[in-house]
Amino acid sequence: MNDPIQVTVWNEFRHEKTNEKVRKIYPDGMHATIAEFLGRQSDLAVRTATLDEPEHGLTQEVLDKTDVLTWWGHMAHREVKDEIVERVQKRVLEGMGLIVLHSGHYSKIFKRMLGTTCSLKWRESTDKERFWNVMPSHPIAAGIGDYFEIPREEMYGEPFGIPTPDELIFISWFTGGEVFRSGATWTRGHGRIFYFRPGHETYPTYHQKEVQQVITNAVRWAKPTVCIPDICPKTKPIEFLPAE
Ligand code: ZN
Repeated sequence: MNDPIQVTVWNEFRHEKTNEKVRKIYPDGMHATIAEFLGRQSDLAVRTATLDEPEHGLTQEVLDKTDVLTWWGHMAHREVKDEIVERVQKRVLEGMGLIVLHSGHYSKIFKRMLGTTCSLKWRESTDKERFWNVMPSHPIAAGIGDYFEIPREEMYGEPFGIPTPDELIFISWFTGGEVFRSGATWTRGHGRIFYFRPGHETYPTYHQKEVQQVITNAVRWAKPTVCIPDICPKTKPIEFLPAE
């Protein structure tokens, strides 16, 4: 059997400590729920890390052992230290997979990797969200039919300030009429990146089976195919060079 994919589930873990409604849905934090459903898969080995741990739980040692990092943040993006963002970016460029969830669209690491504003329209209301599967052949869409729905979610609307995705897997429609590119991939360096829109903290989104399926698929898709440290060496010719 192959070695398990080493997954680190990162969460800001602040709303769960300060908002009773969020705590009821995620008593041990969103990271615990995400780690729980990923941990049920025999090919995944899962650990968690949170903002308030030393080095945000993302020491060099942890990152060196991480194949795929998932990221949820919202109210404290600015508290994430720049040196940790650099460290994560370097690992993605070497080959580590990165899965950015929901309000992580405004995280330092996502903006750093994509280089654009990552801005969008939003509304906390009573919208239903319908995810259209526009790339059913993609491994991240495995097991998902033509569409699935989340009964209540925060609305995110276009224009979304991202570079044109390498692959667009899901488009969301909301009751209010907006649409959104809610499942998209990019490659940066040797690393694969997937953005997945749902996961507002006041809704039980990460308990829903289709959402769990997509995140599980994404972790498998994003695992490194290589790990190539960044060097810029002066190099000798392979063939004999004639004298000038
Ligand atoms: Zn939200």
